[in-house]
Amino acid sequence: MTSLDKRDHDIIIAGGGLAGMIAASSAAYYSGQTLSILVVDRNPLCEVGKKTITGWVCGDAVGKNTVDYMSNRIGIKWGYPEIEHPVKGVMAYSPDHETAVPFDGDGYILNRKLLPQKQTKDALKAGVEVKDMVALRSLIVENNSNTVIGVEGDDPANKSTFKKTAKLVIDCTGVTSVLRTNLPVKSFIQRRIHRDDLEGTGRYIYNFDIANEDKTFFDPDYCIIHLDQKLAPGGYAWVFPKGKNKVNIGLGIQQKAFDAMNKREGVHKSLKTLIDEYVQLNTVISKPKLSKSETDEGNSWGTWQVSVRRQNDCMVANGYMLVGDAAWMPKPLDAGGIGPAIIAATIAGRVAVEAIQSNDTSQRSLWKYNKEFINDYGYKTAGLEVFRRMLQGLTNEQINYGMKHFLSKMDVDKISKGEHPEFSTVDKIGIFIRGALNKKLAENLAYTSRLNEKLVEHYYNYPDNPETFTHWQQILNNYLDEAFSKFK
Ligand SMILES: Cc1cc2nc3c(=O)[nH]c(=O)nc-3n(C[C@H](O)[C@H](O)[C@H](O)COP(=O)(O)OP(=O)(O)OC[C@H]3O[C@@H](n4cnc5c(N)ncnc54)[C@H](O)[C@@H]3O)c2cc1C
Repeated sequence: MTSLDKRDHDIIIAGGGLAGMIAASSAAYYSGQTLSILVVDRNPLCEVGKKTITGWVCGDAVGKNTVDYMSNRIGIKWGYPEIEHPVKGVMAYSPDHETAVPFDGDGYILNRKLLPQKQTKDALKAGVEVKDMVALRSLIVENNSNTVIGVEGDDPANKSTFKKTAKLVIDCTGVTSVLRTNLPVKSFIQRRIHRDDLEGTGRYIYNFDIANEDKTFFDPDYCIIHLDQKLAPGGYAWVFPKGKNKVNIGLGIQQKAFDAMNKREGVHKSLKTLIDEYVQLNTVISKPKLSKSETDEGNSWGTWQVSVRRQNDCMVANGYMLVGDAAWMPKPLDAGGIGPAIIAATIAGRVAVEAIQSNDTSQRSLWKYNKEFINDYGYKTAGLEVFRRMLQGLTNEQINYGMKHFLSKMDVDKISKGEHPEFSTVDKIGIFIRGALNKKLAENLAYTSRLNEKLVEHYYNYPDNPETFTHWQQILNNYLDEAFSKFK
């Protein structure tokens, strides 16, 4: 291997979105601003963090606890105007609106267009360099060493190829990462995602007149989630308040379930039609108008994809790390990806610095990032992935019945903390359960709960080093294969 000293930078961060800028600031913080850190993003600096041509597409909601996680560790603080509106939590409603389950606790609705500007300012202040308007195409690999040593892409402004080397590349280019998909080194990282593990999502940012009072449709203090297989097949719909009469409203679908619904009903609805129908149906929102304010311009309508599986089983290779959506971190149940991206990027920055300071950016040296992320967040995602698959197979009637009868206070507390519910009441009320489908549902809930316990324990035993990973992954696959064949 050539000397690590001969590289252009210590760390190159590919993608200057939410995760990329935190990873950069974290590395700058933990190194005492002694490392050369370069963030490369394909957008111009004034539009950094933009996911797609339709904008910074997101539901914009994040739990306060994860923002605090970052602030307490690396001193980055967010406030007004990048935090647009505070909320007391998330309420998930059953299709009949009769049962509400609270999620997550205090949180914020962000302005995703303004946040990257604040993040860039913080990173630049900490000595990070930012190269904008470069679309990265590939990773550079050192001859015969199975090690990533840089990035390559197009620099149209200078009509040239952009090529830079580093001791470590941190990939934060989001769910469609071409760097991960074409990863040119031997590694345990999974390169491709199954299409059923991706949700098509879209949302509007609207100002509106208030037609009615109904807190199951709009609540300025709570993010509302509607579970409904007709409104959002295989996914869910949301109404997140951005003020007293401003809203982020949208939904996510699983393509397979959406296609099946279109076929069943003999229609050809698009995602946009489905969202428009959902807005129409809302009894509080009247005369919705796309927000035209400067802070939302170019961002008030958009669609994008989000992953709903567990994070990549391994997130490091020689000279390479994956963070945020590039690593499939959004929570399988509600596609919340900001929280895990914040946690992972904060950890990744520190692990990167430690590896560089010990002159070893090999897979083995970076391995503890896998472990630390799992201990702080990732331990629960496989169980939630199984739960998500089970939920996607339910009818609205089953969801109504299950939310009404099978959730104890303890389950609600668990869900509030983002954990898998235990459904311990299911066994006790067994003989009183009405209908064969609901009995089957009860059995499945008890099954997912038992399996979740095993999966959480398995994740807490994630290997300490790469040598035993294959064995660990085999056991994981055995658990998941059994569950996935049950919930096909
Ligand atoms: C409709 C929708 C609603 C959502 N709602 C919520 C929500 O309410 N709460 C929540 O927690 N999560 C939500 N999520 C998920 C959340 O938005 C993501 O988890 C989060 O943005 C991940 O940040 P990231 O930095 O990993 O990736 P991204 O935000 O996708 O950033 C990637 C960055 O990399 C850049 N980039 C990409 N490719 C290249 C390349 N080749 N070269 C250079 N630069 C590149 C992009 O331009 C961008 O700046 C939602 C997602 C969607 C689609």
